[in-house]
Amino acid sequence: MSKMRAMVAAGPGKGFRLEERELPAPGRHEVRVRVQACGVCHSDSVTVEGLMPGLVYPRIPGHEVIGVVEALGPDVDGWEVGTRVGVGWFPGACGWCGHCRRGDSFACENIKGATGVTRDGGYATHMLALASALAHVPSDLDSVESAPLLCAGITTFNALRHCGAAPGDLVAIHGVGGLGHLGIQFAARAGYRTVAVNRGRDKEKLARELGAHDYIDSEAADPAAALQSMGGAKAILATVTNAQAMQAISGGLGTNGTMLVIGAVGALTVDSLDLLMKRAAVKGWYSGVARDSEDTLSFSRLHGIKSMNEIYPLEEAPAAYERMMSGKARFRVVLRIGD
Ligand SMILES: [Zn+2]
Ligand SMILES: [Zn+2]
Repeated sequence: MSKMRAMVAAGPGKGFRLEERELPAPGRHEVRVRVQACGVCHSDSVTVEGLMPGLVYPRIPGHEVIGVVEALGPDVDGWEVGTRVGVGWFPGACGWCGHCRRGDSFACENIKGATGVTRDGGYATHMLALASALAHVPSDLDSVESAPLLCAGITTFNALRHCGAAPGDLVAIHGVGGLGHLGIQFAARAGYRTVAVNRGRDKEKLARELGAHDYIDSEAADPAAALQSMGGAKAILATVTNAQAMQAISGGLGTNGTMLVIGAVGALTVDSLDLLMKRAAVKGWYSGVARDSEDTLSFSRLHGIKSMNEIYPLEEAPAAYERMMSGKARFRVVLRIGD
């Protein structure tokens, strides 16, 4: 095949169009990936709706990609044609700037932006990726099932393993949705006393099945007070998309507790006195780099952690995107693209 097909974001708020293009040749340090599956993530709206200044269109969204290396560009070491790979939000890194040399390659000074935002992503049969962005994907992992682990998975897993909690500590997963349903599984398997927090009771049964030991209905009770009655949370993983809901739970932190913000909600107000009296913190978390993706996939495979997905073919990306944006999907949406 010498052509590729892609669902392209035409411009800010202009939706998608199907394009057929010549297969691109990988440039220096790049590989071409034949895409098997790509998850549809809320952050794709950055591209589709044009939520960042300076975006260039047309652009192919998608940063939860699993596929197979099909061609190598010049100066690619350590990767071979036929290797199964994953690509997430992290677009790659130079390896030699100050941040990269300190081990903070997520903040590379030379390669900025994100997959599917500042370079073309995985809503396509093929894509180019920098070799430094590639994660190894075990051959026995199903591509459609595992694609969301490359963003929703790595973000929750990597935040939780850096949240400062030890096994037995109280950890709250705020929001039982695309991120939260994975966060509950990771937190419970990591040995934390895991409490799921969500509005209403309709997701309680599922949250408990996924491993939550307790459940707080944030409509029926003040979630901060409920967490305090359990001793205060060592960590709160804030996955919701609503700043007020996040504010309402921050008071549930215990001594030395940390609220990890992984949902982008704009400005957030927290009570400074409450923070300083508890020596507590509110902290943002970047999903992670390629090696973190590999750790996420291994941990998930080891513990049978799975994303619950609704599946669409590539050409139905507009419907898949609408479904994801509606917030009604249970829980992630994935495009099935190739073999
Ligand atoms: Zn994402
Ligand atoms: Zn760098």
